[in-house]
Amino acid sequence: MNGNAKPPLSETYGSLTFSKKAMAKHLSKAVYQKLIDVIDNNEKLDDEIADEVAHGMKEWALTFGATHFCHWFQPQRGVTAEKHDSFLAIDEQGRIIERFSGRQLIQSEPDASSFPSGGMRSTFEARGYTAWDPTSPAFVLKSGRAATLVIPSVYLSWTGEVLDMKTPLLRALRAVEERALRVLKLFGNRTAKHVRVTIGPEQEYFLVSKDFYNKRPDLIYCGRTLFGAASAKTQQMEDHYFGSIHPKALDFMADLDARLFDRGIPAKTRHNEVAPNQFEIAPIYEEANLAIDHNLQLMEIMRKAADEHGLSLLLHEKPFTGINGSGKHMNWSMSDSDGRNLLEPGTAPKKNVQFLVFLASVLAGVNKYGGLLRAAVAEAGNDHRLGANEAPPAIMSVYLGAYLDKLLGEIEKGSFEKMEAPEVMSHGLLKSLPSIALDNADRNRTSPIAFTGNKFEFRAVGASQSIAEPATALCLAAAHGLDRILSRLEKFDGKVADIAPKALAVVRDIVKETKRIRFEGNGYSPDWHKEAAKRGLPNAKNTPEALETFLDKDVAGLYSRYKVLTEEELKAKHEIKLEAYVKIKEIELRQIKELAVACVVPALTGQISASGHAAELLGDAAKGGAKALKSRLAEYGALLEALDESLALVDSALEESAAEQDMAKRAAWLASKGVAALEALRAACDRVEEAVDQRLWPLPKYREMLFLL
Ligand code: ADP
Ligand code: MG
Repeated sequence: MNGNAKPPLSETYGSLTFSKKAMAKHLSKAVYQKLIDVIDNNEKLDDEIADEVAHGMKEWALTFGATHFCHWFQPQRGVTAEKHDSFLAIDEQGRIIERFSGRQLIQSEPDASSFPSGGMRSTFEARGYTAWDPTSPAFVLKSGRAATLVIPSVYLSWTGEVLDMKTPLLRALRAVEERALRVLKLFGNRTAKHVRVTIGPEQEYFLVSKDFYNKRPDLIYCGRTLFGAASAKTQQMEDHYFGSIHPKALDFMADLDARLFDRGIPAKTRHNEVAPNQFEIAPIYEEANLAIDHNLQLMEIMRKAADEHGLSLLLHEKPFTGINGSGKHMNWSMSDSDGRNLLEPGTAPKKNVQFLVFLASVLAGVNKYGGLLRAAVAEAGNDHRLGANEAPPAIMSVYLGAYLDKLLGEIEKGSFEKMEAPEVMSHGLLKSLPSIALDNADRNRTSPIAFTGNKFEFRAVGASQSIAEPATALCLAAAHGLDRILSRLEKFDGKVADIAPKALAVVRDIVKETKRIRFEGNGYSPDWHKEAAKRGLPNAKNTPEALETFLDKDVAGLYSRYKVLTEEELKAKHEIKLEAYVKIKEIELRQIKELAVACVVPALTGQISASGHAAELLGDAAKGGAKALKSRLAEYGALLEALDESLALVDSALEESAAEQDMAKRAAWLASKGVAALEALRAACDRVEEAVDQRLWPLPKYREMLFLL
């Protein structure tokens, strides 16, 4: 046997989660079964079991040396939050013991007055509470000397208002599940007990050397470089994508995967992405709530692992200008309790009317709520990415692939019966290779919502974002589509065998009505932007504009119809997101100003004095040389002026912003004048970087950050 052999993955996988295996070991049979019913079969949680579950969890956590527990939740500011309490208790005899009660498991009260609530709560009534979400397994978080039992939770105010991203998600998931089940029943399915939304997020990221990172305050405080002259080589050779992975990056990935496996996060693929030092990790898809909790954990684990490898993780949507940014592709489908993917067309999609119904429901949802999908991914960082010809445009269209597109066209005309089954790809003479269904190979990377074989892939999500928001929006859109179909089909009281033609008629109407969102061409082309405008598709250019959709009456109707969020809660969401946008933009403006004044201007004046001194030394000795130096000096002078002018723009953008009381106007101001000032100052800084002596430039350059690990 190999001396280095580790125990196989199948034995160690999930060792740090309170998995079914751990539950079986630490809970009585009856309690174990009750808990499994809650997790797997949508049963209601019986509070009576909480004490025993808490005790079992604690005993399990103690085996890892855990001293504390915490409720882990997802406030609306996007990242996760936790507050640790120790198990420490003193019993009646004054002895130190570890205690963790059912009450502590079920509910906790963080002092939450500092979380954004969008003006829904004033500070004196700010207390919110967190409540255990048993459908997402608890886990032990190990970090340095700390070991903590972490309990995934929802977060609500005492008056019942939603304060987090998980609660709306869970509600939206239920809305889809319930309706999808009804569709299955209509098609004669008697075995499906539940339907689950499934999500598989592909996560893109950059790694940079920690030494460089620590010398770039813009990376530290803004997550992106606010300026930086382009390096000669960027991604033009296309030699990074799927290239062999840098040993340091691979070492990091191996360590990352090991940590993810311990946490029960099913990491599956890892590869180089398009930009230099850009990578991707994708897990095996899971039930949506779990997939999202896992993605949030993944981002945290990646950050820590990178740090321990002398690297820094960049999740910003656009850390470097001029090269690709990072997104998170949310693969989305629905699966029934028998494990059948409801978006699987099979080999004869035209006969699979049930599939066509589910497909049509998403089309109907996206057609009506495309603006909402855009709003759900609106964030300052993503503004740099959407529509930048490397990520999908901000126009929410759907790509179906050649076969399905044609099939829907034929359904519309009523002549689909003649359609052949999908072709398989031929390898020419190579008979020994397996055949591949064409649709799976035929991908359009320029579409924000692509149907890829047997799932939708929503590509507009930003790399750093929580998927909860876009998943909630897409689920609600789909629930709306399903309801449209159900409202017509459930009136039908004939035999199950006769449902197909009725359903096809409904599908046909939806196909007609949703034609405008279908687009198979190049989403980057200017023609498409013109065409989309003609079709009346929303195309919000920036975050504040996109966020207005949350105030839309139709959208409010959607969220309240499915009891996901009230109009007030949506208004609060709008406010919270605007505020975040404003804060990010103001931090960027202040940060670029500080760097320009503290690093860029001194580098330039240093250059001026060196060149001036050199000109003096040369005197008339070499006329040509002195002339060249003088003309350079004149250029430097002009650069200094340009720096000062754009610094003044930044100052006035900040002043005007601070003076604006209305949050929406303030955000809009920053999106126009603020962004213009940032760009002007950036251009000036980049020119200075290109002009000055390397030894005078105090910051790591693009060519270092992007190519050296
Ligand atoms: P690609 O880069 O070609 O899109 P990847 O393998 O990198 O493919 O990612 C595909 C993602 O889609 C994976 O995370 C995978 O688990 C996920 N996925 C596959 N099937 C489904 C499904 N039915 N529901 C949700 N996600 C899925
Ligand atoms: Mg993909």
